[in-house]
Amino acid sequence: MSASSMFADIPVGVGVIYEGERIRKPQMYVELGGPNIKEKFELLRVRPINEVEDGKITIIDRDIKELEEGSSIPYGILVEVAGKDLEEEMEGVMERRIHDFCNYIEGFMHLNQRNAIWLRVSKKSVERGLSFIHIGKVLQRLFKSEIPLIEKIQITFFTNQEKVKRVYEEALKVYEARDARARGLKDEDVDVFYGCTLCQSFAPTHVCVITPQRYANCGAISWFDGRAAAKVDPKGPIFAVEKGECLDPFNGEYEGVNKVVKERTLGAITRVQLYTAFNYPHTSCGCFEATTFYVPECNGMGIVHRDFKGKTPNGLTFGAIADSTAGGRQVDGFHGLSFEYMRSHKFLKADGGWDRIIWLPSEIKERMRDYIPKEIYDKIPTEKEVNTVEELKSFLKKNKHPIVQSLKEEVKEEKEKPIAPVTIVPTQVPTITLQPQAQSPTLTPTSAEEAITLTFKNLKIYADKLIVKKKK
Ligand code: SF4
Repeated sequence: MSASSMFADIPVGVGVIYEGERIRKPQMYVELGGPNIKEKFELLRVRPINEVEDGKITIIDRDIKELEEGSSIPYGILVEVAGKDLEEEMEGVMERRIHDFCNYIEGFMHLNQRNAIWLRVSKKSVERGLSFIHIGKVLQRLFKSEIPLIEKIQITFFTNQEKVKRVYEEALKVYEARDARARGLKDEDVDVFYGCTLCQSFAPTHVCVITPQRYANCGAISWFDGRAAAKVDPKGPIFAVEKGECLDPFNGEYEGVNKVVKERTLGAITRVQLYTAFNYPHTSCGCFEATTFYVPECNGMGIVHRDFKGKTPNGLTFGAIADSTAGGRQVDGFHGLSFEYMRSHKFLKADGGWDRIIWLPSEIKERMRDYIPKEIYDKIPTEKEVNTVEELKSFLKKNKHPIVQSLKEEVKEEKEKPIAPVTIVPTQVPTITLQPQAQSPTLTPTSAEEAITLTFKNLKIYADKLIVKKKK
């Protein structure tokens, strides 16, 4: 059946062309979930066949047009599926498809996942009559056509605050149980990782590499979920990645990962190191649950998550930092990640792990209480103790954070090292590529007459390219 006849009864367009559509505030009729709403969720459960009424759509309790225009609403969606070959193990991956299927609907924007969802409905689509019933029908048809193992599907939309809250509590328990399954398995124990390109509609050069110890950026897909998805639909957006030869066990670089990432990004990304935020970090799409940000004054990294409303010590919000991180790029020190990855023994291992983290929102710190090593826990400040870089520096010093020792060593080394001036002779326009943390780039002079001298002291430069031009 063609997409047009499959959705002939839907008052707005449905198709991949609407993926990536943004709905800005002026075009928005209503916002469902989002950063201003604490309790929100999307949940998919596999149920026994006799517990699902195929095609049923329930709204508890208000439909879209009954919601106040311009408002943010507590929201939840529960998708219940049944089929004789469906397994509970596949719930996480099927749940993640809610994201792309919703984004096929014109004037319906879906961001993030689980209890971080943020949706917007456009005024135009509401004027054309879009309701949850239509959205439910689209989801049911897409789920059944894309995942033929689903024999029955029923969907419930929640916009009633009390009901959202009740199911939200249940959803949190389900997410935690799913995440806990993958703990204990190590990257070294498996021959296959999994890749996901679901977010390429927003970030074309992004591929998630999902390993037992590096959970997907969105926090919604574990290695087990990847395995289940690739088994059911090996040609789908989640696929197996043969590890191949381990090129660098410390940074987490694998021949097979590099090969697949290069192919799937059409050559834009050629190397990925899984356990570091520097040099060749895992790319970040836009769905990450949290992101690191580099603080050059302390040579450490802070972490900020999507729901943090304040400013980090460098004066930036999550949104501003996410803009520097997202889009399928590799940006030194700015690294999208999931909460579950923070629980991993491989968490930024090559960069020093938790010893390299110098600031956290109190909410993350509390959530990670059992995973942050005890000896460093009190040495990492939150927004409650520190609000500026100066305050951060004195807190770290006062509390003897391990980063302070490494800074002292760096300063000592710098003092001992004679500073060699670098002479550049621009007989041709030279291009200098500075590697991260590079201390003294060298160039060969070819003529003394036109030479310029650059002296680098305590150098920290972040640039893709530095072009030195001869003055006319
Ligand atoms: S963040 Fe990664 S794993 Fe999650 S949907 Fe996007 S590409 Fe897939």
